[in-house]
Amino acid sequence: MSTAPSPPPAVTEQQPHRVLVVGSGFGALFATQKLDAPEVQVTMVARTTHHLFQPLLYQVATGILSEGVIAPATRDVLARQTNARVLLGEVREIDLAARTVTADSVGQVNTFTYDSLIVAAGANQSWFGNDHFAEFAPGMKTIDDALELRGRIYGAFEMAEMAAAGGHTDRIPRLMTFVVVGAGPTGVEMAGQLIEMSRRTLAKEFRHIDPSEARIILLDAADEVLGSFGEDLATRTRRDLERLGIEVRLGAMVVDVDADGLVVRTRGGESERIEAATKVWAAGVQANPLTKTLSAQTGAPLDRAGRIRPNPDMTLPGHPEVFVVGDMVGMEDLPGVAQGAIQTGRHAADQILRRLRGQETGQPFEYHDKGSMATISRFRAVMKRGRIELTGVPAWLAWLAVHIFYIIGFKTQVTTLMHWAVSFVGRDRAERTVTEQQVLARLALEYLGEDFLRGSLRTPAEIRAQTEQPEKDA
Ligand SMILES: Cc1cc2nc3c(=O)[nH]c(=O)nc-3n(C[C@H](O)[C@H](O)[C@H](O)COP(=O)(O)OP(=O)(O)OC[C@H]3O[C@@H](n4cnc5c(N)ncnc54)[C@H](O)[C@@H]3O)c2cc1C
Repeated sequence: MSTAPSPPPAVTEQQPHRVLVVGSGFGALFATQKLDAPEVQVTMVARTTHHLFQPLLYQVATGILSEGVIAPATRDVLARQTNARVLLGEVREIDLAARTVTADSVGQVNTFTYDSLIVAAGANQSWFGNDHFAEFAPGMKTIDDALELRGRIYGAFEMAEMAAAGGHTDRIPRLMTFVVVGAGPTGVEMAGQLIEMSRRTLAKEFRHIDPSEARIILLDAADEVLGSFGEDLATRTRRDLERLGIEVRLGAMVVDVDADGLVVRTRGGESERIEAATKVWAAGVQANPLTKTLSAQTGAPLDRAGRIRPNPDMTLPGHPEVFVVGDMVGMEDLPGVAQGAIQTGRHAADQILRRLRGQETGQPFEYHDKGSMATISRFRAVMKRGRIELTGVPAWLAWLAVHIFYIIGFKTQVTTLMHWAVSFVGRDRAERTVTEQQVLARLALEYLGEDFLRGSLRTPAEIRAQTEQPEKDA
């Protein structure tokens, strides 16, 4: 349902224009930085204290980079921007009529009022309606996900070594099979790293198993890897992956996942079970659920992935003071990539500043395609920009340069280059620490439930009493 247009926000002598930005990802950060102007005061509310460089999550998961390198503290990044403040909070409600946003963090609830609002809450992993797959095939969207995967991946090799040492050789094939679901850029990069880890990094470290015998399987229901890169690059990438030793299985839809493996159905309708201890889900995304409330209040349509369609200038119908940007937006020619979020975020900020300066507003957003790229392994990548296609070492060098450019902070850039030298020129990986909590904490928290996560302040003893109750009754 559309509401009547709100009056344009005004600037008063006494109070700068209050912009509330939801999120701390690419869209939110670049919008906030663009709003570094005296006439505005920016409040960024996000559910994590860091800005996450998602494209390198797979390198945290496979032990090349530490989490701090790809997730600097947002308040550190914005420390010099004195008109911006950063607050921790998960946004639960947005009331467009009242111009308020309510967020909570570990049970502490805050309601903020705003003059302009930029919602940049991104997207979540999607298991295509099979959320129970997540228990055994975690996705890769957050630092928690990457650290959990790191624990599962390195842990699988440890378990295989232990099984071999104990003479349980029948367990080894399952423990040393790694399945990556989704053959887009993330899946390809993950599979490439898994094979490099097993063939290079770990090759000489174990005494009872040979890590280079690990099976790495890359699965997708589609008929191509990197389908969005076009047929030539897709074919070449598949060939490169197979040469590295990765089993590429296309036209294979995952229909079930459990602790010990998964079941795929082929185009011909046959089912096959693959025994695999470690599964990585890199297959789909669903827009942040905040799009639902925004759609309900403005009539802006949602697409099948839950993405909201704004006006061409990125505002919502009837609300020229409300912008949506980044991965939560569904528009033609706007890919769900970092550049899409950066450019829409900057556009929204620019529109706010123009309005405050009395300049014409309402300019439609135009996406400038800066190309797509994916690494396959060290010294091997693919890149496409318009008609230009690069492969091999030149594409890999371009990938290196672009990623170093966008990693925030000089110190972090230097650290990243050193870690890459260790892993790509040498064989090592500097970030292989794994803790028990990395592997178990997500499921433990899910078991304890929403109340616990929201800080219902139950003591561990109360939680134990509650969870033990059914057994006592029985
Ligand atoms: C594994 C992986 C690899 C990728 N590789 C590439 C690549 O190689 N190249 C490329 O261009 N793109 C890549 N992408 C896509 C790119 O990272 C995204 O397009 C980009 O991050 C989108 O930016 P965003 O600001 O819209 O959302 P995000 O970066 O996801 O940020 C969303 C923000 O909103 C916050 N948030 C969410 N819900 C709430 C709430 N209710 N309250 C408060 N805060 C909230 C989150 O904590 C986060 O800070 C990759 C993505 C992934 C997951």
